[in-house]
Amino acid sequence: MASESSRFTSTRSYRRFRSQRRPHSLRTAKTGTLRSSPQGFFEKLPAEVFDFILDYLSAVDASVFSMASKTISDCIMRHMSTSAWRNRRIWQWFDCTSPEAEGSALDHFRRLGLLFKRCTLLLPTKDRLRFSYSVFSQVPCLAMDQCAAFPFCRGFVYYGVFLTTLIAGWDELECHRVFDFICENTNLQRTIEAAVTCRPGACHRLELVVRLFCRGVLLNQWQRRRDSFFWLMCILRPWPIVSQARLLFILFGPLQSDGKIGWQRVRDHVVGQGGLWDLAKAIILLHDHEETKGWRPDNVLSIMDEMMVTPLPWHSENMARLLILCGKNICYNILASKAINGRLSEISRLLIFLILVSEKDGYCMKWAVKMTQQVCQVFSVASEKWSFIQSVENMFSEVTMELYELVMAGNHNGDMDPLQHLCCLLNASAHFHTEIVYMSLRKD
Ligand SMILES: [Zn+2]
Repeated sequence: MASESSRFTSTRSYRRFRSQRRPHSLRTAKTGTLRSSPQGFFEKLPAEVFDFILDYLSAVDASVFSMASKTISDCIMRHMSTSAWRNRRIWQWFDCTSPEAEGSALDHFRRLGLLFKRCTLLLPTKDRLRFSYSVFSQVPCLAMDQCAAFPFCRGFVYYGVFLTTLIAGWDELECHRVFDFICENTNLQRTIEAAVTCRPGACHRLELVVRLFCRGVLLNQWQRRRDSFFWLMCILRPWPIVSQARLLFILFGPLQSDGKIGWQRVRDHVVGQGGLWDLAKAIILLHDHEETKGWRPDNVLSIMDEMMVTPLPWHSENMARLLILCGKNICYNILASKAINGRLSEISRLLIFLILVSEKDGYCMKWAVKMTQQVCQVFSVASEKWSFIQSVENMFSEVTMELYELVMAGNHNGDMDPLQHLCCLLNASAHFHTEIVYMSLRKD
């Protein structure tokens, strides 16, 4: 861009133009004609000279200029519809840039968003969207799955930054129109449907398209939680719980080392905090938002229940780690709903892995002890409490034996050495029981 502007500033005609518009006397002499002409001085200029001026202006300057009058903004929109403008201001920026150039590309699309926002200010919402889309629609990076550099192309992110700036401050009704417009023009709903009805992992490219498009264009660019919630709800709301669970995992689940969605990874391998954090943040966002039309915060618990067995039950440590990352309210609600339904062995297993993850990830063991106590309170009868405690303690032995068998088989599946796992579990058990004994002694 710098070289481009220096090219323009060095031309003769530019100097001539500046020398003509500078003198104050000219401005005052023409005031009468200006009032009746919305294009002002520029009406006298040949179209190509006016285009030349617009080429010289930065996006922000052009955005301010567009607010001078309806005629000026029409001229600017016409100029922006030319292929020369599109090539220079849009297409060339979509060439997948190096990470170092990413910052300036994001700034560029933010400024373009401002330009489109200002120059379409007087148009109805649908026309504003139509105009913006007509300028961007031919970029292959924005058509689902047509960019040669997919999935490494940053096109969706650039478009997301542009779109977020364009629609910043629009009310919910208008944002719904934006979502409908995007669905109509990109076939988003049909792509999502194909991705969530396919066997998990079978249409891995389609799953990635959904993930990158939704996160890049619709979700990742918002700063306020209520905006993030609104757009996530737009994506999730049309689908039943089973599909919502699939979709949430496609959008935020961990990836595998080959770049595919990590369905197999959460089942067969231990996933660290970093891999589950995005999912946990999305779950917290859905859970913490007050009830709205078509959404109850409790729905997210059913989604989690479904997600953690899709397509097959996750590794217990991954379930426990996700629950811990989601915080104590969600964790308790999941365990308590299992307790109410008498799923003792499931809760016990989850609690043992909560204790193991607390040990491994360095959380205070008091957290796991309090969670166990709280879940125990769900059982009102003494005999039920006793069965619960027995079940938890038996599960300690069971999981220890499982790990011991893994050690004996010498099978470590690419994860942590099973012997280290076993040592962690024994340490976790010691710390957990120390905390319980200490708490009961303190009471006495
Ligand atoms: Zn691309």
